[in-house]
Amino acid sequence: MIVSPIPALQDNYAWLLHEPASGFTAVVDPPEAEPILAALKQVGGKLDCILLTHHHADHIGGAEALRAQFGARIVGARKDQHRLPRLDEAVAEGDAVRLGPAAAQVLETPGHTRGHIAYYVPEAKALFCGDTLFSLGCGRLFEGTAEEMFESLQKLAALPGDTLVCCGHEYTASNARFALSVDPDNAALKSRAAEVERLRAAGLPTVPSRLAEERAANPFLRAPDAGVFAGLRAKKDKF
Ligand code: ZN
Ligand code: FE
Repeated sequence: MIVSPIPALQDNYAWLLHEPASGFTAVVDPPEAEPILAALKQVGGKLDCILLTHHHADHIGGAEALRAQFGARIVGARKDQHRLPRLDEAVAEGDAVRLGPAAAQVLETPGHTRGHIAYYVPEAKALFCGDTLFSLGCGRLFEGTAEEMFESLQKLAALPGDTLVCCGHEYTASNARFALSVDPDNAALKSRAAEVERLRAAGLPTVPSRLAEERAANPFLRAPDAGVFAGLRAKKDKF
């Protein structure tokens, strides 16, 4: 299973999942249709499935146009179906979403929004986490509490260390600046921050990272409890 980021809008990433043998193709969180169409052309020009992590416009904006063009089925959180595009498959914690020869496990990750979900695909060693976990950061608490977000992040952090963290935004450079301000002596963080600088200077995405790298360098995963997490999140909001 090939997993690759598709840059869209200002700093969003949709994610392409493609299995060459079967031709199965899915996209996660399409913000707009055009960049997705360009990416699909390179892998056979079909689309089977659209996975949505949450209802924000910058994650769903391309979904209806892509369904109309390809007949792709749209998968999203049952809890949020009142504010998502019409779902062909409404899912909840523990559900499995068939992706051709593979399957995604649904993880409920409230915090950024109440109905936010993530998709873990073991066959691709990939986690599609929307705006819950970012490289060196995490999403803002628009609807949930710090306790909920802390639990959501802990749930994601428990996945295997070699899992690819496929998040919704290219926020890594500014996340690195904040992370260094609160954890200046962390060697793993310092080397990741230097790598991020090189990648951005070359115009390349900084994602996906590996979950083990995030556990070593991301201050929001390193917070020992919800109280410390809440303090960090509040500080980052004003950084
Ligand atoms: Zn969002
Ligand atoms: Fe977003």
